Amino acid sequence: MDEKKEPKVEDIRAAAKARGCRVQQALYYVAGFLEGPMCGRCFPCSLGSFEAKRRLENIAGGRGAEADLIALKRIAGNMLEASMCKKGKDTARFLLEWLETEAFRSHIEGRCPEGECAALLEYRVVPAECTMCGLCLAACRHGAILGEQRKPFLSGYLPFEIRQKRCVKCGDCLPVCPEGAIEVVVAAEPAKVGD
Ligand code: SF4
Ligand code: SF4
Ligand code: SF4
Repeated sequence: MDEKKEPKVEDIRAAAKARGCRVQQALYYVAGFLEGPMCGRCFPCSLGSFEAKRRLENIAGGRGAEADLIALKRIAGNMLEASMCKKGKDTARFLLEWLETEAFRSHIEGRCPEGECAALLEYRVVPAECTMCGLCLAACRHGAILGEQRKPFLSGYLPFEIRQKRCVKCGDCLPVCPEGAIEVVVAAEPAKVGD
């Protein structure tokens, strides 16, 4: 009978490294740990991993704050000290290694240096490149694009623009623009919940 082989923490960590962003690496690892090797027999590891995932989601989602960094360090410290087995202690070591990088602070300041955390990116129309064809307006299902298809003598020829508060960063507008006039840049301001 085929038994499903449980992934090892080292394998999950190695797979996490396919991402450039350290926050995404940590989030991928912790989610994989919770789905596989984490057995739930001791609280510092089981509760700590769930809480760490929630905090990492805050940071990757543009809602991160100093309190999340402090909590992650506390969680990793507790796991290192009190986890019952090597898997929990290794997880704590991985978390502490990731937390030592600058990436976490950059994220709570609103920047993902690797450009992998969608919540910390902005889609924008480059006004000089936009020919007002209206294809992006038709592609956007979220009502985030403002503009009027060019109609000689009837419109003011204003280039299209993206309303940041409505944009969910789905990327649907990018491939339809024939001019390559939509760019994805690191957000000037972190996205806030409810914006
Ligand atoms: S530290 Fe080990 S025993 Fe404890 S919950 Fe984690 S994997 Fe299970
Ligand atoms: S990224 Fe998605 S939501 Fe944002 S403007 Fe483009 S299509 Fe609309
Ligand atoms: S698809 Fe591109 S060129 Fe056409 S209106 Fe949108 S941004 Fe402008």
